[in-house]
Amino acid sequence: MQLVTEVVLKPTRDRAIRRRHPWILSGAVDRIEGAEEPGCWVRVRSAEGEVLGYGHLSPGSALRVRMLTTGKEAPDDDLIAERIRLAVGRRAAQPLLGDTDAVRLVNAEGDGLPGLVVDRYADVVVAKITAVGMHRRREWLAAVLREATGAGVGFERADASAARREGMSTEQGPLWGMVPDGPVPICERGRRYRVDVIAGQKTGFYLDQRDARDLAASLADGRRVLDLFSYSGGFSVAAALGGASAVTLVESSAPALALAEENLAANAPGLPARFVNRDAHDFLREDRESYDLIVVDPPPLARRRRDVPRASRAYKDALFYALARSAPGAYLLAFACSHSIDADLFRKIAFGAALDSGRAVQVLRVLGPPVDHPVSIDHPEGNYLTGLLMQA
Ligand code: SAH
Repeated sequence: MQLVTEVVLKPTRDRAIRRRHPWILSGAVDRIEGAEEPGCWVRVRSAEGEVLGYGHLSPGSALRVRMLTTGKEAPDDDLIAERIRLAVGRRAAQPLLGDTDAVRLVNAEGDGLPGLVVDRYADVVVAKITAVGMHRRREWLAAVLREATGAGVGFERADASAARREGMSTEQGPLWGMVPDGPVPICERGRRYRVDVIAGQKTGFYLDQRDARDLAASLADGRRVLDLFSYSGGFSVAAALGGASAVTLVESSAPALALAEENLAANAPGLPARFVNRDAHDFLREDRESYDLIVVDPPPLARRRRDVPRASRAYKDALFYALARSAPGAYLLAFACSHSIDADLFRKIAFGAALDSGRAVQVLRVLGPPVDHPVSIDHPEGNYLTGLLMQA
């Protein structure tokens, strides 16, 4: 019989796992019996000895075990391959994902694959590995992904902070095929973008804002648009194709803004556009224009719970100044992308900004991530993106 490493939990620390939560934190572990090989399969037992399921061990990480199954039978790597095939197949069959060649294929815990994110940009599949359990299987994963997607190119993006947390090396480079020179062209609902899969943010593009971009396009006709934290111009291109009369993009990263300029020129040549390479908060304090559609999509301001008060003030500040720049009837599309800022809190933050600004603000819609970013109902932490469509 094969020897299995066992993780035995402290008394009462089995509750989360019984509720199918996929994470075991180091503080819940009483002892580990057997070899503590990074990323190996472990069997998890309660203090009373009951088998609770199986997962991957991260010996150096505060997130000590990521569960893959709460079954009693020992799984093997086939379980991972099956889940990858299932995730890819679900995207292919998903009616709400039509008319785009850029899709998230694997959304970590949301697809029962903790530690693995996979995005597809046309013929290029980009994987990001954030747990040592996936890291040690990377070559095998590449073969599974290649077979499941049929894509010509696979590329791995390094995640330095995950590597540090997990005590693993950072890897970045081709998994198979030849990565094209320069950004990869994609076409999303008629919007043409070039995606920098090698040096861009995330895996190159904010696929999680696809539905919000559709919304921006529907609302933009004849409007003066302010795209704050624009990155490569995702929202501005959508607004331009939706009939915006002018766009102003504000972004602190010069390479991102340069790509935004290219993207805008390719989709809407001749549209009056301003590209501002600045801190968005500074810009807002000094700008004197008014706008009819403002997008506020800052980076995650609260990565940890203790950041929430400071982040709330920063969000409120941005919304307050955005309201000051809003023409009567302007739409505001505002987002928070931190798990610790949920829809309820975000609405309160917006309320504070509206109150201080003296503007009457209507909430028209509450927004979240699109269907290729599923959240497992067992794992509320996977729910990180919340947005509000408001009218001032
Ligand atoms: N709206 C974008 C994604 C925005 S992500 C899209 O849909 O593609 C947040 C962006 O804000 C990043 O591009 C980051 O470089 C930029 N950023 C971070 N801090 C900033 C600041 N203080 N001022 C302006 N831009 C900032």
